[in-house]
Amino acid sequence: MLRSLLLFLSRQSWLRHWVETSPAADRLTSRFIAGHTLEREVSVCQRLNRDGILASLDHLGESVTSLQEAGSSRDAYLAALDRIAALGLQATVSVKLTQLGLDFSEAECEANVERLVARAQQIGSVVEVDMESSKYLDRTLGLVARLHARYASVRAVIQAYLYRSEGDVANLCRLGIPVRLCKGAYREPSDLAFPRKKEVDGNYLLLMRNLFEQGANPAIASHDERIVQQAIAIVRERKIAPDRFEFQMLYGVRRDLQRMLIRDGYRLRLYVPYGDAWYPYFMRRLAERPANVVFLARNLLKS
Ligand SMILES: Cc1cc2nc3c(=O)[nH]c(=O)nc-3n(C[C@H](O)[C@H](O)[C@H](O)COP(=O)(O)OP(=O)(O)OC[C@H]3O[C@@H](n4cnc5c(N)ncnc54)[C@H](O)[C@@H]3O)c2cc1C
Repeated sequence: MLRSLLLFLSRQSWLRHWVETSPAADRLTSRFIAGHTLEREVSVCQRLNRDGILASLDHLGESVTSLQEAGSSRDAYLAALDRIAALGLQATVSVKLTQLGLDFSEAECEANVERLVARAQQIGSVVEVDMESSKYLDRTLGLVARLHARYASVRAVIQAYLYRSEGDVANLCRLGIPVRLCKGAYREPSDLAFPRKKEVDGNYLLLMRNLFEQGANPAIASHDERIVQQAIAIVRERKIAPDRFEFQMLYGVRRDLQRMLIRDGYRLRLYVPYGDAWYPYFMRRLAERPANVVFLARNLLKS
């Protein structure tokens, strides 16, 4: 119930505008979001790198309203890649195709992403293409496959809640495309996605096993302790070296588990968002864990 309400609110533009411009916002969001500017983001990533943690920079924004806005997003990411190169950050960038114009022109969106992937390749970084709702899935995987064939330097995302993901994982493994495996954060109908969490978790474990058997540098993106422990059991059993895969988590989420992984010598990458358009991202994080609403309420009361 609460999850549905929060996901509904995440799509309300009137609320988004009001909250994003609220002076109290920084205090509410700083746990999950590095800040408004690239420089703030960079300093968080430098701190993470010093602690032995890799980063993925996410310039917040999705579903832009024009190709011009999509071009601005592309430029923001080019600036981020320049900073990664200049400072030698251990970092990738994560992009959403709707932020780079997919709703307006598939060709222009691809041209935008191509510029980022080409730049990432030059500097030894990677563009991770986030997966959005299922209506974008085929176009997203198609674009990733074309760019991978030309540049490598790109990573796909698979959502374990979708029935079709087993086939998609097999296909990506066959093409040698690295995959980030997550559970999935959008509201999908039951003819496309497992309705029960237990089934999603079960499918995640199956896909994770397949990725460890056939995938290229899989990224296990989850804060689920059971999944993390299973991944560790698989890599021990199969003697997979720690530099052949990575764990990924969101900035600010399960910091205890993050510390445990670093202490035990595993590669961990944090997805670190920054920018002004933080509202939909923030609301999805609240929807994932209702206890975060209590955390939010406490901070509001402190104001
Ligand atoms: C690096 C990364 C990239 C992602 N990219 C995508 C993407 O491209 N597309 C997409 O659809 N989804 C993406 N997601 C989101 C993902 O699909 C899930 O919605 C989210 O990670 C929660 O699932 P979980 O695996 O952590 O397991 P869950 O079963 O949801 O959570 C397990 C435990 O983790 C903790 N936890 C989980 N979420 C939170 C939170 N927000 N705050 C505090 N604690 C929490 C709780 O202790 C919870 O019990 C990404 C997630 C990560 C980590």
